[in-house]
Parts: sequence; structure tokens; C-alpha cells
Amino acid sequence: MLHKLTIHELHEKIKNREITAKDIASDVFKRIEAADGKVKAYLSVTRDEALKQAENADKEIKAGSVKALTGIPIAIKDNICINGIKTTCASKMLENFIPPYDATVITRLKNNGYVLTGKTNMDEFAMGSSTENSAFGATRNPYDLERVPGGSSGGSAAAVSADECIAALGSDTGGSIRQPAALCGVVGMKPTYGRVSRYGLVAFASSLDQIGPITKDVTDCAIMMNTISGHDKCDSTSADVSLPDFTKALKKDVKGLKIGIPDEYFIEGIDPEIEKSVMDAVKLLESMGAKSELIKLPHTGYAIAAYYILATSEASSNLARYDGVKYGFRAKGKDLIDMYMETRAKGFGSEVKRRIMLGTYALSAGYYDAYYKKAQQVRTLIKRDFDEAFKKVDVIITPTSPTPAFKIGEKTADPLQMYLSDIFTISVNLAGVPAASIPSGFTKGNLPIGLQIIAKPFDEETIIRTAYAFEQSTDYHKKRPSI
Ligand code: GLN
Repeated sequence: MLHKLTIHELHEKIKNREITAKDIASDVFKRIEAADGKVKAYLSVTRDEALKQAENADKEIKAGSVKALTGIPIAIKDNICINGIKTTCASKMLENFIPPYDATVITRLKNNGYVLTGKTNMDEFAMGSSTENSAFGATRNPYDLERVPGGSSGGSAAAVSADECIAALGSDTGGSIRQPAALCGVVGMKPTYGRVSRYGLVAFASSLDQIGPITKDVTDCAIMMNTISGHDKCDSTSADVSLPDFTKALKKDVKGLKIGIPDEYFIEGIDPEIEKSVMDAVKLLESMGAKSELIKLPHTGYAIAAYYILATSEASSNLARYDGVKYGFRAKGKDLIDMYMETRAKGFGSEVKRRIMLGTYALSAGYYDAYYKKAQQVRTLIKRDFDEAFKKVDVIITPTSPTPAFKIGEKTADPLQMYLSDIFTISVNLAGVPAASIPSGFTKGNLPIGLQIIAKPFDEETIIRTAYAFEQSTDYHKKRPSI
């Protein structure tokens, strides 16, 4: 039953020589075999690689060097490059792409002794909120196999939730770590823009993308943040700022903490059980000495429109590189132009094509000022809303998603409905601030509810402190699906 444990629990056992890295790896792979036929969290399982890594870990343990992640099985979203391992972005376009290098986050995990369980399913090129846009089939929510796990890091969140790995990495451009974490009942953090290197992350919308951890509890989130954060000369957008030890923020202390509740987030359409869960969480934090007040984020209503112009514009530019020449899939064509067109027509799925077309339109001469430039201006206003709010409060608490996990197929026919599920997560990316989703309860139908905690740029520590205080006074994080 080692697969049920957290990073910190396994770490203790390894340190005390109670178990070996090989014991953990074989137990986790048994679990994957038993559960993944139903959940379908993985696109590829890297058992051979893992057993080699576990053997190495055991040698290190014998030699007396146990690092934070020595022997810990971790799953990686399939848009993060690992040398020699297929990285598909859940797209036909990259179905056979094997990167010749490691993303910086992978180098950091390797330096800390991790064991790779495999690459997880996602919406194609991270475009979506349900993992249904994968070219290789949908992932299922471990709490209800008829429902989505959220997206786009749905495979990573489902794998953590179903104990098919101990922790995972995801990427978050508009909520793709936090929303699936909420829908699967686990912890997910999108760090500040610039906190974690994106070198080796396949680009979707470069001004918004961040890599972050998905874990079983807040302590593991802090441990993963310690490993992956920090400046990287290979990513000029990674910030050269001092790095805290995030585990020092694991204090059950919120005395005097000022919580802001944005008026604009409690809108029509939000599930009443979710609203109640979030309000109850605030009350609990108040009973521990925090204070809450209503705040204003007045430009929230424009966030979805601005995001879906900026993200699609950047995607149309980033995805221009898939032309059948340099990477992956190539279709036959009667000449060069025809080959380009056939490759893109056959290699991309319909959501990716929709985004490329939207983005290309928004960037085209004559429309640039009306759409792209306007959206950039709105983005600045949204950022200022957060700057103003953080003059008064230390954290902002909101729901992560307006609804719990929805049924597979429920929103696929209507892209706008799907986009609306990002309403609470998108502003955070536009403003570049950090935020996490943590489990805050369950609906009557036993579906997980997530609570979002947002803080100032580079103040992930306050998120961790708030989240930890809440977590330690509840036991939602201890619950696992019965699958
Ligand atoms: N759901 C959002 C989108 O479809 C966010 C995706 C993400 O964060 N990668 O763009």
C-alpha cells in the first residue's frame, strides 16, 4: 500500500531504511496496472526507466545520501520534455516525437533522485478544461468514471488522486493545474510567472504558461516547489529572485492573516455547494485568527474574453513551428505548400485548429488594435485590480471552479461553455500571480470541491501557510476515491 503514501511519508521510511526505492516503484506500478485501465491517466508508462532509476536511488540510499525526492515515483504531463522519452502533447502532430534533451524541471527532479512513472494525458497542446481534447482518448475522474478529471493537466491530477503516482507535474496557462486538482480532490499550485523555468515545456501561450506541482497534500506541494523553482539561464523569463525554503512556510498559523473575498467571484451559475464550502473554509480560517473582508476585482468580467484572445494569439504563433519539416508528423502533399497544409489539417485536432484560427484572426492587420491590443490593455487593468487588492489583504480566497467535475461529453459540443469553466482561474495567469487549489470538501454526490488561494507575486509562502493551516484542521486531503 506504499502507493497511498505522500512524498514526506515515504521519505521518512526511506531514511529509516524501512523500505527501498524498488519496493515503492513496484508497488506504484502494480497500482497503475490495476487502476489505469479505468482511469486512463497515462499516455505512456515508463516502467523500465523507473526500475533503473529506483536501483540508482537504492545505491544512493545505501551510500547514505537521501535527497528530498530520492526514490519517489512522479508522473509528468506529456508536454514536458524528457530526453529519450516520447513527448506527444496528446497530439497526433507529436505522436512519435522523442526530445533530445531534458526540460530544466526534469533535470532538477533527476538531481533530487526522483523516479519517473510515465507521461500523463492532457488536452491536446494543453488547450482545454476536461482532457477530452486529447488525440488519444479521454481520462476519467477517479471519483466518478463517467466524469471528466478537469484539464488540461487531467492525467496528472487523476494519477495523483488515484494513487497511480506519488506526485506529478502539470502546466497551467489558464487554470490547467488548479482546475483538475480541484475536480480530482488533490493539491495543485501555479507558481508566480517566472518562478519555475519553462525550458523544455512545449509552449502554448508563453506569457501565461507556468509549470507547477500536483500533490496529495500541502507539505508535498512545498517539497516539490523547493525542487523545481529557481532561475535558469536557459529561460530568460525565469526570475532571478531569492529562493525561500517553502517547507518553512508549513506553519499552522494564520493569526492576523488578512483574507480578501472578491465580490465579483460569487456570480450566478456557481454551484451552491461550492459557494458554501468556500465560505465555510473562510470561517474556519477566521476561527484560527484570520480576518476576512470583501474586496473588489472590478475587471473580472473581461478576463475570459481577454484570455481567449491573448492565449489564442500566442498559440497561433507558437504552433506555427509544426509544419511537417522540423518536428513530428508529416503528411504527403503535391508540393511544399500542400505538404504544410495537409500536415496541419491532419496533425491538429479541432480545438487546436479553432484556437489557431481565432489567434491568427486577432493578430491580423486591421484587427490587431481592436482585439490583441485591447486585450493587452484589459490584462493591465486586471493586473492592477490585484495590485490594489494586495494593498489591503494578504491572500484572496475564491472557488477554483464554478462546478464540480462534469459529465464526459457534457460540454464538448459548446466551446464557450467549456471556456466559462475557467472563470476563476484565468485572471491569475493574466496577472502573473501565484495561486493554489486545495481540497475543501465534497458535494452530496461525493465529488471533490477545490478552494483557490491567491497571493502576491513571489509570495507562494503565504499560500502554503494558509493552505497548510486549513488542511491541518480538516481531513479532506486524506480522502481518496474508492476505485
Ligand atoms: N482551460 C484553459 C484553456 O483551454 C486553460 C488551459 C491551460 O491552462 N493550459 O486554455
